[in-house]
Amino acid sequence: MNGNLYLVSTPIGNLEDITLRAIRILKEVDVIAAEDTRQTLKLLNHFDINKPLTSFFRHNENKKGEYIISLLKEGKNIALVSDAGTPAISDPGEELVSLAIEEGITVIPVPGPVAATSGLIISGLPTGRFTFEGFLPMNKKNRKDRLESLEQEQRTMIFYEAPHKLKSTLKDMREFLGNRKIALAREMTKIHEEVIRTTLDEAIIKYEEENPKGEFVLIVDGYDGKTEKDVFWKDLTIQEHYDYYLAQGEDRMNATKKVAKDRGVSKRDIYGELNS
Ligand code: SAM
Repeated sequence: MNGNLYLVSTPIGNLEDITLRAIRILKEVDVIAAEDTRQTLKLLNHFDINKPLTSFFRHNENKKGEYIISLLKEGKNIALVSDAGTPAISDPGEELVSLAIEEGITVIPVPGPVAATSGLIISGLPTGRFTFEGFLPMNKKNRKDRLESLEQEQRTMIFYEAPHKLKSTLKDMREFLGNRKIALAREMTKIHEEVIRTTLDEAIIKYEEENPKGEFVLIVDGYDGKTEKDVFWKDLTIQEHYDYYLAQGEDRMNATKKVAKDRGVSKRDIYGELNS
């Protein structure tokens, strides 16, 4: 008889977030397949779990997948864990699951932490409908295409990003999505846990002045029909936009304020542009 493949979620920072069932399953299976065996060994040692480990990471996924399937077919029960959170969510596992299903193997979830939904629930943005986008493609053209395809996405969007790419990702989002609300959920469940609820423009300014550190989930507000591409001033220059408000009877200060607000930039930027 085939063994079972368990997808076991592990903490995304705080070890107390492991479930009782995850500990039991990890103790009961024959083999644990781990993204990084050294990392998982720390977790297993902490919970006094002594089990054979085998590595299963993105670059050996195909070859290792076949080996793991062969063990399952011999009747061995296997737990798949990733470095943090839930396997197969922006982590290896997806292909192993489809291979296992093709082979008639039972796949069992052992649910627990996921960075994406943890970030979403503290974002303050709508949670009723959301879309998980994971990491944006690295390739420039694919990244542009992906962001363009999200321009009119009404659901709250969740992204993963590495700290060293955060600045450029915020700028790309700003370029293709316009200025939006964003929550940056950083280092969740860890000592330096923090959530920054702001706009894309403000986030860009913040990270011009400091280097992003730690792990981030980005939660971006969905399209509300009012992004720049649809607004009345989309084809106006800043001067024309400003003149429009003057013609509406605003004084210079208010006109500048309104232009800055519409465009999601600082008044100083608008002054600079008008006086250049
Ligand atoms: N499988 C994992 C899950 O279930 O969330 C995600 C793995 S993915 C390779 C790693 C990304 O998850 C990081 O780059 C970051 O975007 C996010 N992440 C993981 N742990 C986090 C944490 N404690 N706080 C914020 N983001 C985290």
